[in-house]
Amino acid sequence: PENAVGGSSDTGVKVIVRMRPLNNKEEGETVVQKTSGDSLTMLGHQFTFDHVADVSSTQIDIFELVGAPLVENCLAGFNSSIFAYGQTGSGKTYTIWGPTNTLLEENAYSNEQGLTSRVFARLFSRINEEQNTHADKQLTYQCRCSFLEIYNEQITDLLNPSQRNLHLREDNKTGVYVENLTEETICSMKDVTQLLKKGLSNRRTGSTSLNSESSRSHSVFTCVVESSCKSVDGLRCFKTSRMNLVDLAGSERQKSTGAAGERLKEAGNINRSLSQLGNLINILAEVSQTGKQRHIPYRDSKLTFLLQESLGGNAKLAMICAISPAQSCKNETFSTLRFAQRAK
Ligand code: ADP
Ligand code: MG
Repeated sequence: PENAVGGSSDTGVKVIVRMRPLNNKEEGETVVQKTSGDSLTMLGHQFTFDHVADVSSTQIDIFELVGAPLVENCLAGFNSSIFAYGQTGSGKTYTIWGPTNTLLEENAYSNEQGLTSRVFARLFSRINEEQNTHADKQLTYQCRCSFLEIYNEQITDLLNPSQRNLHLREDNKTGVYVENLTEETICSMKDVTQLLKKGLSNRRTGSTSLNSESSRSHSVFTCVVESSCKSVDGLRCFKTSRMNLVDLAGSERQKSTGAAGERLKEAGNINRSLSQLGNLINILAEVSQTGKQRHIPYRDSKLTFLLQESLGGNAKLAMICAISPAQSCKNETFSTLRFAQRAK
């Protein structure tokens, strides 16, 4: 595809803006115009990113743009992540998982299938290829997945939702990890599909109103890919990298009016992970542009602490900023584009 991003020689954050079609409740003029493969205009402002995907971009295009490079980066040994950012209703969930929460089995071959199942289909076929190519070195892979949700700065295990308020720990050998989080070994698409179905059905849902819990939680699907092969001196060597697919909380400003007590505390916590992620990405962009050393405050939120090893250093990030072109979403769309611009 044109402008494929995130190749293993790239550094920094790849920023893709994805504009969904107007829905049937939105009418009239759209407020965003794509002007080239990597730029758009809004209200007289011109923005440039790594790529702009408009309504003509399919799920397959998005996979080729960010999903396929995610798999290659991960197999090359880099911790690699895709984040979906944007206001509630802009298309984050559609992009990461697919059109509905019950998508997977039924729509396994649907054109609308989201990034995650496409990524795993590619991962398995590439692992197969690699194992065949390097059979002489006895190359083997093992993949372990976990699925969690961060809501109100609390971590819930989506594969075992009775495990709430899990703790982040840090260990010299293994790095940052979530204590007691379920990790399941996957060997086939069937395994992945089962995990996704289970996890997605345990997410906070409720109403789809703008302030529902579902719009305020982050879901993080992680796969640890471990390879082992025989080196020239006959010893085994191991390589580990992780892949994260992250459906972020809605980026819209939360109204805290009328909130008191627990609710007020919640309002303060709700977007802490999101705003810290934004801060951190700005700092990382600055460091990569100027080469200056800066303190990177990973520990200031659950999400950034959890993903510490997938954010800095050699890690590969792709940020899909989802927007609606509708007049009624104008303010949030503009602020998403500003966020996306800063991440560059
Ligand atoms: P979010 O997760 O950001 O709140 P959703 O992914 O749930 O938003 O999208 C809101 C609605 O728009 C859903 O009905 C979804 O199917 C639809 N939608 C989003 N993006 C697209 C797209 N690119 N093409 C078609 N429909 C889309
Ligand atoms: Mg969503």
